[in-house]
Amino acid sequence: MTDGSKKTAQTKHTKLLIVGSGPAGYTAAVYAARAGLDPVIVAGMQPGGQMTTTTDVENYPGFENPVQGPWLMEQMQKQAEKFGTEMITDEIVDVDFKANPKKLTGASGREYTADAVVIATGAQAKWLGIDSEEKFKGYGVSACATCDGFFYKDKEVVIVGGGNTAVEEALFLTQFVDKVTLIHRGDALRAEKIMQDRLFDNDKIEVMWNTELDEVLGTPPGTPGAEMSEIGVTGVKLRNNKTGDVTEKKVAGVFIAIGHAPATAVFKGHVDLDQDGYIKTKPDSTETNIPGVYAAGDVKDRKFKQAVTAAGMGCMAALEADRYIATLKAKPKLDAANKNTVQKRPAAKGPGGR
Ligand code: NDP
Repeated sequence: MTDGSKKTAQTKHTKLLIVGSGPAGYTAAVYAARAGLDPVIVAGMQPGGQMTTTTDVENYPGFENPVQGPWLMEQMQKQAEKFGTEMITDEIVDVDFKANPKKLTGASGREYTADAVVIATGAQAKWLGIDSEEKFKGYGVSACATCDGFFYKDKEVVIVGGGNTAVEEALFLTQFVDKVTLIHRGDALRAEKIMQDRLFDNDKIEVMWNTELDEVLGTPPGTPGAEMSEIGVTGVKLRNNKTGDVTEKKVAGVFIAIGHAPATAVFKGHVDLDQDGYIKTKPDSTETNIPGVYAAGDVKDRKFKQAVTAAGMGCMAALEADRYIATLKAKPKLDAANKNTVQKRPAAKGPGGR
């Protein structure tokens, strides 16, 4: 069914539907609510987005001292709700942007229709894609040190990656663990200099250059005859990509911090994406190729990926959606005015009679 106007009892209609509840989604909501668009946020399965897995945030403007990521997101949510944003916990699993109004379906079975849509679904952690990583996910392999670091108190762990995330998470882990080894495939880190300085100054952190993780070792869940207490990671197999040397290292945990991929699977085929799945938008705009559909934050941003840039794009998306919705309201009046003009004209006298 493509007719978005056919509503079921489950259908929720709004002028502006915002998909995603990170800094982009909440900022879009604040601006849209203040513009009287009665926005609805479908918050997704991780309300607050990636910021909820961050501890100290030192670079969000307005705070002299570090603030906690989850706290900051809570404040953004409260601010959006204060102006009349409705929050719904659901996950969009299907979209129809050809329908009028645009139609989206939640995992709950609920349907949402909207005059305009802001996509602010952010990005998700990338994985190495090796079999043993998959086997041990949640049993010693994690992509979130903030969430799982606590479980490795007084133990030794490795973290894979060379960007800001890997360095930040390695530093965070030193609060709990005995030792962190940062495994990097290159011979120089991508992370900012200030972060690198902190890393190299920390006695609990060692860096292994030109090294790749080939295998996670241990007893995976589902191993026949294994006791629950035996399940988990015991080490890693590492390969030096210059010399080819393979070594084993005893560790209790493996953290993967190699970047993020945009959360756009559900929009594939419905809006234009680039080769890596980021939503394409017009220059200096959040407009996608579909009129009335906007994209803001990490879901369209491969370059900056900051909470503050995401928030800025959320603001842009709400302003652009507001203007688009205003043109929809104006359209029937224009059509009516045109009709009147046509009616006043004398009837055409045949082909080319005008
Ligand atoms: P980045 O893309 O910056 O870094 C990813 C790292 O993972 C790179 O070092 C890359 O290696 C490595 N990598 C990628 N794929 C693989 C693979 N298959 N195997 C081994 N290593 C791999 O991602 P981040 O998540 O670190 O950062 C994303 C953005 O977010 C950046 O712009 C960053 O500055 C920002 N950020 C800012 C923070 C802050 O300001 N507090 C905190 C965290 C992130 P290589 O270098 O060889 O390509």
